[in-house]
Amino acid sequence: MRFEEAQRIKNLPPYLFARIEKVIAQKKEAGVDVISLGIGDPDIPTPEHIIKEARQQVAVPANHQYPSSAGMLAYRQAVADFYARRFGVELDAGTEVVSLIGSKEGIAHISWCYLNPGDTVLVPDPGYPVYSGGAILAGAEPYYMPLTAEKGFLPDLAAIPRDVAKRAKMMFINYPNNPTGAVADEKFYREVVDFAKQYEILVCHDNAYSEVAFDGYKPLSFLQIPGAKEVGIEFNSVSKAYNMTGWRIGWAAGNPDVIEALGRFKTNIDSGQFQAVQYAAIAGLTGPQDSVAANNEIYRERRDLVVDGLNAMGWQLAKPKATFYIWAPVPKGFTSASFAEFVIEKAGVVITPGNGYGQQGEGYFRISVTVPKERIAEALERMKKYIGKVEF
Ligand code: PLP
Repeated sequence: MRFEEAQRIKNLPPYLFARIEKVIAQKKEAGVDVISLGIGDPDIPTPEHIIKEARQQVAVPANHQYPSSAGMLAYRQAVADFYARRFGVELDAGTEVVSLIGSKEGIAHISWCYLNPGDTVLVPDPGYPVYSGGAILAGAEPYYMPLTAEKGFLPDLAAIPRDVAKRAKMMFINYPNNPTGAVADEKFYREVVDFAKQYEILVCHDNAYSEVAFDGYKPLSFLQIPGAKEVGIEFNSVSKAYNMTGWRIGWAAGNPDVIEALGRFKTNIDSGQFQAVQYAAIAGLTGPQDSVAANNEIYRERRDLVVDGLNAMGWQLAKPKATFYIWAPVPKGFTSASFAEFVIEKAGVVITPGNGYGQQGEGYFRISVTVPKERIAEALERMKKYIGKVEF
């Protein structure tokens, strides 16, 4: 028997990394020593003090029962304390923070809280695919805001047609940015707050890479901007800062009405995150932070290796100030897909085709520096051998 899928599921494109995983598996089966610079998943283990706390908490019977879906107050307070310490932002843990089973979960579900079928949502292109995926599942229609090199990969708010801005209910932004590695300054966030106030748009800022930054640069929180809490929320998690992608714990913080709605939605569809994992995240957020600096030093070294290596082949890339991504144009004669295919076929190296992040990603590819530097050096050696000098 074959069951007919709901239209909303049919409307979803296949998830980018599910496709890439398939290609990797096929190549490995064929005996290729594949180096994957594809998915952005930290390869460095979770710091020991966090694991120790989790081990202890797993053994505590009180943690074996259903948690609250909003998260323990102690966890939400740890998030609030982190915001105070790191960004100088005051948050009320009880009403302005909600726990998430990874920020991806909340990013997907916020659309269900605020978008009716047919509503318009402003989504960056290229962008993390969950912004449009969650909106499409809720029956809404993404309006894609182009992120171009000329504008520093920031959306040009003035270029959004007035009728679109007027009907838009919600907007996603994400800095430091996946996939471009771009960062945003206070001026940009102030423009976003003004725009959101003018058109009554709920802003959802995704700050997943707030702690992955280099060369002395410290990313901002959207919530630092005067008026931001009136118009929006911010998503983040412990995934990238403490190498905890597999633990699945994050948060949304900001506007209390929006946090309450997201919390209400969650009480109806999930039962929150295992408390032992919440305790582990508390240990990350409140414990020693030297692992964050150590990680960043590792990523910085790898970033330099990739950027210098590609530039020696003919690229002209600047070094991104944050994230573990390098976003680069494909050489002359290639599309995103044909270049990614060429590189895996010839060199056994997986790169992510830019068009997987949206139409504006066409003509680009993304490299993630989440593999050891020896493997990156090997990947660059192979690329040099099979691609040689490039032109644009
Ligand atoms: N936002 C962005 C831009 C990401 O790249 C990712 C993961 O790669 C996430 C959110 C989700 O992170 P998590 O669900 O682990 O918090």
